[in-house]
Amino acid sequence: MIKRPFFGIAKPKLTYDSIEDVRAEPVSVKPKQRVTLFIDVPFKRAGKALIKTGDSVIPGQRLQLLEGEPAGYTVSPVAGKISEISPFIGMMEKQMTAVVIDVEQDGEEVAADPAFKEVSDKPTLEGAIRFLSTIPGKPDLSQFAESGKSVKTIVILGADRDLMTVTTQYVIKTGIASVKTGIDILRKITGVQNIVLTVAQSQVQAAGSAAAGVRSVANRYPAAHPEMILRNLLYEQIEQGGVCFLSAEAVAALGEAFNNGRIPLEKIITTVKKDGTRQLVSAPVGTHISEILDAVGEKIEPGDRLIAGGPMTGAALYSLEHPVEPDTDALIVQGADIIVEGKDSPCTNCGECVRICPVNVPVNELIRYMDAGEYELAAERAALFSCIECGLCAYVCESRIPIFQFIRLAKHAVKRMNAAEEANA
Ligand code: SF4
Ligand code: SF4
Repeated sequence: MIKRPFFGIAKPKLTYDSIEDVRAEPVSVKPKQRVTLFIDVPFKRAGKALIKTGDSVIPGQRLQLLEGEPAGYTVSPVAGKISEISPFIGMMEKQMTAVVIDVEQDGEEVAADPAFKEVSDKPTLEGAIRFLSTIPGKPDLSQFAESGKSVKTIVILGADRDLMTVTTQYVIKTGIASVKTGIDILRKITGVQNIVLTVAQSQVQAAGSAAAGVRSVANRYPAAHPEMILRNLLYEQIEQGGVCFLSAEAVAALGEAFNNGRIPLEKIITTVKKDGTRQLVSAPVGTHISEILDAVGEKIEPGDRLIAGGPMTGAALYSLEHPVEPDTDALIVQGADIIVEGKDSPCTNCGECVRICPVNVPVNELIRYMDAGEYELAAERAALFSCIECGLCAYVCESRIPIFQFIRLAKHAVKRMNAAEEANA
């Protein structure tokens, strides 16, 4: 059925891969020169800055950008000096602040910042939000504190969401005790007792000790997407409402943090090389991609493509100095010789995208509204916001239309228009 080569030598199957197919132990990478960290708030010159270039930092130190904005922070994974603080535009025009730290290596291990230790003795939601929002897996803990949002069920995503990626399976295989501790902590600090852990079919037994309801996710893509999990496994919870998702890596990191009194800094990443071989890497958040590629022995040549995330939903990167982010689960290098470029060919109305869409979006209609720049009509008449962003339509499109990217842009455009209307109301 799927005829078009999508990924050259490393062509993905439409079934999830198993951790057993990947060399077991991650390569450990220690940043040698500098790390870059993103703070989720725009760079502003107004307000009293709490960090500045030239400041010395230590591992685990919380770096808040501005006084009075406690949510705008990151955590240093290294000992060193801040050498740059500058604006950074992320995906979909997201305005952030980049903090570059020059790593200091004098051969002596620097003790971690003890500030979190005091908080960790008595776990609270406030303490977790204040210190752990940027740990590996990037848990959105603020959703538990939002007034008016009543969370009744926490769903822990313990199966890898995209193809070729085994990061989450590695966490379940080696860190289930930390996941269990994290679940206990979550129950205590959020008050939510109903916790469900979803895992790959092959890991149901390994997950059995986690003291949560365990559900197995089907092996066929995109069954591990949160929206598919809700539709296929948790329909009774949908009726109750108040479901929130956290990654298994984030829950394991939460467990480790409160268990050890130290903020976890190491991210697990599945790397996929040009020849299709995979290698797990463990590296501090903020490590530059160039150092990850050096560690796995991969060289980037002109014309190669670098992707952060899996083959179906990942995004192209344009700099080797881009850092590992708290939610970077995979890094893929595609050789120039196997890249299948998108084209600007017209839709032939073949219907393949409609047939494969798991949530019945009329993709062929949607593409026409988007082509005409009619984003609001795309939302009203062609179910733009029902799309779960699995990328299958782009995968099968004979005309090689980058539908998935168009959909993301269209959603962003509608949200921006709505925000502008609200601001002017
Ligand atoms: S990305 Fe395409 S196939 Fe996937 S849900 Fe959205 S419209 Fe459907
Ligand atoms: S798969 Fe591509 S060419 Fe076929 S109907 Fe969908 S958008 Fe059009």
